[in-house]
Amino acid sequence: MSHVMNTYSRLPVAFARGEGVWLYDEAGKRYLDALSGIAVNTLGHNHPRLVQGIAQQAGRVLHTSNLYRIPLQEALATRLAEISGMDEVFFCNSGLEANEAAIKLARFYGHKKKIELPTIIVMEHAFHGRSLATLSATANRKAQAGFEPLVQGFVRVPYRDLDAVRQIAARNRDVVAVMLEVLQGEGGVHLVDETCLRALRELCDERGWLLICDEVQCGIGRTGKWFGWQHADVRPDIMTLAKGLGSGVPIGACVTAGLASGLFQPGNHGSTFGGNPLASAAGLTTLDVISESGLIDNAVSVGQAIRAGFAEALVGVAGVVEIRGRGLMIGIELDRPCAELVTRALDAGLLINVTAGNVIRLLPALVFSESDAKALVDGLTPLIREFLLQ
Ligand SMILES: *Cc1c(COP(=O)(O)O)cnc(C)c1O
Repeated sequence: MSHVMNTYSRLPVAFARGEGVWLYDEAGKRYLDALSGIAVNTLGHNHPRLVQGIAQQAGRVLHTSNLYRIPLQEALATRLAEISGMDEVFFCNSGLEANEAAIKLARFYGHKKKIELPTIIVMEHAFHGRSLATLSATANRKAQAGFEPLVQGFVRVPYRDLDAVRQIAARNRDVVAVMLEVLQGEGGVHLVDETCLRALRELCDERGWLLICDEVQCGIGRTGKWFGWQHADVRPDIMTLAKGLGSGVPIGACVTAGLASGLFQPGNHGSTFGGNPLASAAGLTTLDVISESGLIDNAVSVGQAIRAGFAEALVGVAGVVEIRGRGLMIGIELDRPCAELVTRALDAGLLINVTAGNVIRLLPALVFSESDAKALVDGLTPLIREFLLQ
């Protein structure tokens, strides 16, 4: 009997080691990793710089406490401020924690403006995490079922529906923020267009609302910019990060600018582990390697190659609805539920994911090469064709 709580239906494989974009199971079989532990292993597996950076830091000091200064955390905050044009960073350990900090900040901001029941506008198909507040912000009734009462203070609008946001603006005086993923991950790889994001920014400015971008999955270079919102040339007031920031070492961050900066004071929020020396070293090394190795440009070109490869290989195949995404965040929507493709791909030595029931989701490491892209397209295409023909 397993003593691990049954929160995941796990695939029957365990990996013993990894190298670059490859993982090796306990029997030595190798798998092309097109999922990266759900957008986590930014630098692939076993990246020498990351291994060295972590080992070096582990040999000095792993953890001190936020009761003391942590120079590496300060350096990482400075780096994040440089690449985002934002001001302040709160460090935590996961995506939901980063979003929890963002939600608390937005409420705090509201209370300062004498709004007693601050409300945050959230989107359909959104995924923000599984703590009570972030689950309440998440648009998944199945994930919420059994955990009521949910946290109040969220109103939901259809994704990209500006009119719905404007209607709420007209009748609800308690709104303090709009929260969205610029590129939805769990929800099925849906992209907000630039015009819509700019209009949301304008509306937030008009109304004095905070714009919160959940970049937990699409941030850190994955879409071909450091952050997804940079494609639209707008800046959010709050952005949240986690998954890819530490390349596998848990770290989350809630980054603020303008109106959202300078709000929290000692005692308002905290984290025991957040931004400890080990995690900060992993974050800094990840950002350094991305810059020095041109991995953001790589995400653009290899992402393009993957989408173009599938578009060509699957042209005219009945059942393929759409190939979409940006950079190395790619969705292939089929006209039917296709979860079983995950096991078929596993058997064929390919690690992929299916989300929202019928969307194949690919989240390769930023070190994926053109030839890895070709291997992925060549390996997965016949499985998709076979699946659709059966
Ligand atoms: C994964 C994810 C989260 C939650 O992150 P955890 O680290 O699992 O808590 C939040 N938002 C988005 C967009 C995500 O993809």
